[in-house]
Amino acid sequence: MTKKWVYLFTEVDQAEAYVGGSWDGVRGLMGGKGANLGEMTRIGVPVPPGFTVTTEACNAYLAAGDKFPEGMWDQMMAALKEVEKASGKKFGDPANPLLVSCRSGAKFSMPGMMDTVLNIGLNDETAKGMIQLTKNERFVNDSYRRLVMMFGSVVLGIPDEAFEEVLDSYKAAKGAKLDTDLTADDLKEMIARFKAVVKNHKGFDFPQDPFEQMRLATEAVFHSWNGKRAIDYRRKAGIRDDLGTAVSIVTMVFGNMGWDSGTGVAFTRDPSTGEKKMFGEYLLNAQGEDVVAGIRNTEKIANMAKDLPEAYNQFMDITRKLELHYRNMQDVEFTIERGRLWMLQTRDGKRTAAAEVKIAVDMVDEDLITKETAVSRVTPEQVDALLHPQFDAKTMDEAEKKGQLFAKGVNASPGAASGQVYFDADTAERMAKEHKQAVIMVRPFTKPDDVHGMLAAKGIVTSEGGATSHAAVVARQFGVPCVVGASMITIDLEKRVMTANGALIKEGEWISLDGATGKVFVGELKTSVPNLEEQKELLTLLTWADEIARLQVWANADYPKDARRARAFGAKGIGLCRTEHMFFETERLPTVQRMILAKTHEVRQEALNELLPFQRSDFAGLFNAMDGYPVIIRLIDPPLHEFMPDEEKLFEEVVEMRVRGETKGLAEKENLLTAIRGMHESNPMMGLRGVRLSIYMPEIVEMQVRAIFEAACDETLKGIVVKPEVMIPLTGTVKELEWIQPRLVRIAKQVLEEKGVKELSYKFGTMIEIPRAAVTAGEIAKVAEFFSFGTNDLTQMTFGYSRDDAERNFLIKYVEEGILEKNPFQTLDRGGVGRLMQMAVTEGRAVRPALEVGICGEHGGDPNSIEFCHLVGNNYVSCSPFRVPVARLAAAHAALKHGKGLTQDL
Ligand code: ADP
Ligand code: MG
Ligand code: MG
Repeated sequence: MTKKWVYLFTEVDQAEAYVGGSWDGVRGLMGGKGANLGEMTRIGVPVPPGFTVTTEACNAYLAAGDKFPEGMWDQMMAALKEVEKASGKKFGDPANPLLVSCRSGAKFSMPGMMDTVLNIGLNDETAKGMIQLTKNERFVNDSYRRLVMMFGSVVLGIPDEAFEEVLDSYKAAKGAKLDTDLTADDLKEMIARFKAVVKNHKGFDFPQDPFEQMRLATEAVFHSWNGKRAIDYRRKAGIRDDLGTAVSIVTMVFGNMGWDSGTGVAFTRDPSTGEKKMFGEYLLNAQGEDVVAGIRNTEKIANMAKDLPEAYNQFMDITRKLELHYRNMQDVEFTIERGRLWMLQTRDGKRTAAAEVKIAVDMVDEDLITKETAVSRVTPEQVDALLHPQFDAKTMDEAEKKGQLFAKGVNASPGAASGQVYFDADTAERMAKEHKQAVIMVRPFTKPDDVHGMLAAKGIVTSEGGATSHAAVVARQFGVPCVVGASMITIDLEKRVMTANGALIKEGEWISLDGATGKVFVGELKTSVPNLEEQKELLTLLTWADEIARLQVWANADYPKDARRARAFGAKGIGLCRTEHMFFETERLPTVQRMILAKTHEVRQEALNELLPFQRSDFAGLFNAMDGYPVIIRLIDPPLHEFMPDEEKLFEEVVEMRVRGETKGLAEKENLLTAIRGMHESNPMMGLRGVRLSIYMPEIVEMQVRAIFEAACDETLKGIVVKPEVMIPLTGTVKELEWIQPRLVRIAKQVLEEKGVKELSYKFGTMIEIPRAAVTAGEIAKVAEFFSFGTNDLTQMTFGYSRDDAERNFLIKYVEEGILEKNPFQTLDRGGVGRLMQMAVTEGRAVRPALEVGICGEHGGDPNSIEFCHLVGNNYVSCSPFRVPVARLAAAHAALKHGKGLTQDL
């Protein structure tokens, strides 16, 4: 028996059985459009009779070198007989002709596929017959001239303009504005002229044989699967090339039969806000694409209630039924023929992030979907988009039309920003802080020295670098909209101007950037600022996400204001507080430097004693903000030279003073220079830092631990619930912990006693960021009470890449060449770094079952990495406060996909 290549709309049961019962399979076989036409037929919605030729037939046709597979055409003819029976008309019969449309439709809707051809089956004879039948010559001529035009351009590949020119010049000569102004005779003339266009371009006549029309149209649909636009799109969207497209042949219904007929498109809810209100347009006396094409001004769908009340009521009933059936907002197409309603398409409607969230939450309230479904529908990217200031698509379109598009780069960090351009960090910061300007910092690329300017800026643009450049990483971490690698921009740092796309922008002039699309505009575009507290539906959805998730979401926060934001965004703890930031503050830095340069213990202790109250109040603020939740404080981590003045700059100053013969202060500078040079390390990131520094110079961390516990006790005595966790960075061997941790614990206990605090739950633990620590986690867990994966360093050291160098030099190439699937600093490398984590969790919990495990690297905010943390059995992920809502959703998605699984909760 030959394969079944063709399914009537009434045969969707059979298609379902063939693919093993899955709806996804039916969509794969019949295409989205065909599957839903069948489904609507099955649930009793009025759909014109028709059938679908499968994607398998398309693939077989293309594989055989453009030959219909055996039996396919016969099956189409047999199906056509059924359609004739159902419609009471006959294809090609002048006495009562059946007309059909030929429509493409792949599993996923995609651009580049063949446009629909309407009115197939019309020729000189059937047209005559139809005129007799309908007594409506104008309508028939209109349909016929549309067929010749559509068939000519879509199937035969004649440029549209060839037909449009003919139509326009004719209309102009007749003084007709709209197509509807043309009379039956005018349209008859059009048919003749369009036929001439076909003959001129192709050398043969417009095919009069209806079967030939159907065959050519079907082949054209198959071919469109391999059109350039379709292939390009599939590459970009990651759609497989072997899916193929289906062809649906649908009995024509006519919206252009007079003023009791019409056609329209609608969304069952507002696709931009999600509001539960029919949203759409229609046109009376029109066919197919007229509504979308904007040839005539359309009417709001609500007006249909008075134009065609019966059809309108039926339409409202049917769309309600469709929503109930698909349990999603639908995007529908319909036609009304002489008062009778026909549905021609339905699919899940595309919508904005805001609408996605509102619809999901509303549908739970309406008992249409479960909380789990609601949570799974919204993507982490959508949540992210909702929390960044944004330009709406319309604003950007209009700006582009006005020629304001300045450049396009990599969309590094989402959100929209407008501001005045400054070309260096110091000026950017000054303008923002002192002059209260909205600032956009523009640089060829950024370096760690530029961070103060970047943080003061509303947005960042660079002309070099990719999605993982310093600018991109920092921008994402701090939620600053950012476009990088906009290589068409030429920046002249001397003249303080930049040029691109024929425009010149001087320092201080306004630009706008959209971090979600990578576009940069000249001038100020209007933004709207979303606010989580006001986004009731999003808050609700995230609460459901928390109920579903096993992983908790904590935040990386160094300051109380970050902690408060994190908490407002739903963080259940602080996973990383970097204490060194506190050392950098201007009034503290001289003391820090004095402490570092101290030659004796006494001098050092004195400086530390001065720092202690600062640290204590920093910690008190954090504990206060996180009342009831754990706060992990990491002891000093970076190499000390980072706190010292820049060696080269200092050297320049010294040389200049010598040359000029200045002596005042020279000796101090020379001494400082000697000291800094003495601290030089050839590989500081692998040098004296982290726990090594603490062992080398324990006074610093001893002061820090004292400050932590004094603050903890003070807050506890005020009635705040404090849960401090002290984190020791960069452990490589358990011996390091055995050396330092007991000293620190002793200080903690001593402070508790001094302050008379009896009950305080605290922990001492370590970061796992050196491969050796992961490998020996079983030993380390005997001492450490918690692990936190520092996956930035762990990734660097596991790969042996220096991150900054890698991202600047070879990483992009590696990803392009497929040597690395993704940038491992953005998405956790499961096969290597991930295996180390897995090992560490398993062996750590073997000796300490209640071991608390988290992650505080940048990966903690990345949905794919969060999923992995769920699988490994982490208790929490910790990320930047801005990412917390995104991470909460991602944590829920992981639980939905894999079950709560694995370990005990905290
Ligand atoms: P697209 O994928 O571009 O939306 P469609 O196949 O949905 O293409 O068809 C284009 C237009 O033609 C739509 O407005 C659709 O409703 C209309 N149309 C398609 N088939 C028929 C038909 N059999 N009768 C009337 N209108 C039709
Ligand atoms: Mg359509
Ligand atoms: Mg580290």
